[in-house]
Amino acid sequence: MSLGLVQVYTGNGKGKTTAALGLAMRALGHGYKAIVIQFMKGWEYGELRSASKLGLEIVRFGRASFVDRNNPAEEDIEEAKRGFRFAYEVLKGGEYDLVILDEINVAVDYGLISLDEVLSLIEIKPPHVELVLTGRYAHSKIIEKADLVSEVMEIKHPYRRGIEMRRGIDY
Ligand code: ATP
Ligand code: MG
Repeated sequence: MSLGLVQVYTGNGKGKTTAALGLAMRALGHGYKAIVIQFMKGWEYGELRSASKLGLEIVRFGRASFVDRNNPAEEDIEEAKRGFRFAYEVLKGGEYDLVILDEINVAVDYGLISLDEVLSLIEIKPPHVELVLTGRYAHSKIIEKADLVSEVMEIKHPYRRGIEMRRGIDY
């Protein structure tokens, strides 16, 4: 049994979600079953189109608008809760070898789902399932529970020079 640990990709630099997608690509190549559950994402990311070609499932929860951290809309909270319930069922089912909860750390930081809810996902994870939690601001309790934690640190980002989100690179 080679899978079964908990990984966290956090930090303020670019490359967390794409690292998780790269990991999924690798796992799929060895015949593992993988699913990406995205939180706070309603936009048309390129990976939604390419995933089906690889046999990767991506399920999105969220709206195509930014969430107000100080005053999240009821709909944003409801979407995140739906995502949480979906993730709970997926993990409990044990059907997938690799489960990626994309931006779940941000959903916790914004108060859309509780820290305890995320910790419960780590608790119920079947032993063979590799679980990946991405997003900035990973809670210290989540970091404590994880086996592998990578922090992507921004040294430079073209955004600073006024270069906006680029199709195929940022989404
Ligand atoms: P990616 O999805 O490209 O791997 P990410 O998951 O590390 O990026 P997030 O924190 O999820 O980054 O941010 C989402 C969006 O913001 C992405 O389009 C990403 O390119 C962009 N982004 C990431 N880091 C920065 C940064 N330091 N400054 C500005 N934009 C950023
Ligand atoms: Mg991301």
